[in-house]
Amino acid sequence: MKVHRLKNNLLETLNTRRDAGRSIGLVPTMGALHRGHISLVKEAASQNEVVVVSIFVNPTQFNNPSDLDKYPRTMEADMDMLTDVDTDIIIFAPSSEELYNGNVVSKSYDFGGLEYEMEGKHRPGHFNGVGTVLSILFRAVNPDKAYFGEKDFQQLQVVRKLVEIEGFDLEIVGCPILREENGLAMSSRNKRLTSEERQAAGVIYSSLKEIKRSFSHNSISKLQKQVEEVFEKHPLLRLEYFEIANENTLKPALRKHKKNHYRAFIAVFAGEVRLIDNLGLN
Ligand code: AMP
Repeated sequence: MKVHRLKNNLLETLNTRRDAGRSIGLVPTMGALHRGHISLVKEAASQNEVVVVSIFVNPTQFNNPSDLDKYPRTMEADMDMLTDVDTDIIIFAPSSEELYNGNVVSKSYDFGGLEYEMEGKHRPGHFNGVGTVLSILFRAVNPDKAYFGEKDFQQLQVVRKLVEIEGFDLEIVGCPILREENGLAMSSRNKRLTSEERQAAGVIYSSLKEIKRSFSHNSISKLQKQVEEVFEKHPLLRLEYFEIANENTLKPALRKHKKNHYRAFIAVFAGEVRLIDNLGLN
């Protein structure tokens, strides 16, 4: 298993493979890998001859310094998990200074409004950080395809927009959400939950499923209220937002139109840990 810390060394390795006509799949991650990440890596391995997994906790996409400090970093375990998938995987794990060429700041993007909804409202500047780091990674790796989870559905749409804006010649592949047994979406942040919180957080997905079940025969405002009531008196979980939005524009749905695709989005705090999830409704 090759671990590259420097962009130049990575470039050298990838150029050799590219010259030999091999296709390259990139899976960008912040490490603390779990089965959700691994499902992306397996998808990339099934569609490409070379797989690059980047492991980089990107400071510019964190609006909360304590969240950045406490973000789990488990490099050894990550390497073991990737070795179990395939020993030929290339890991790119640069320092911030190296990746950003010493200038660790975000560029400012216009994602056509996608960046101001939901996560964008609650994490100001977040998508500028995401766009900046992914632009650098796409240039460093120059992949044929890059793999992203629907777990961060808004991010997936923003990345598609980024590719359009910057004119990157690559395909973005969206992959389904992997869940724990109780339905909780797998996340690196789940490592920070107490066992009680982890158990309780199953209600996030069961609420989304309930909304999907009643979507066709209830109004948006009634569905909204239904979710708010679940969390109102919850002893361990606090609802930050619940929104039903148009899947393409991410704008909140006020009324339902048959031709549109809708998705429910939710963010919940368990103590200090912020959990997000989403589910397609029609
Ligand atoms: P992260 O390390 O949290 O930045 O995630 C790296 C990639 O893995 C992103 O594209 C995420 O959407 C994806 N991902 C994270 N959790 C899951 C999950 N439970 N199922 C599928 N993909 C996931």
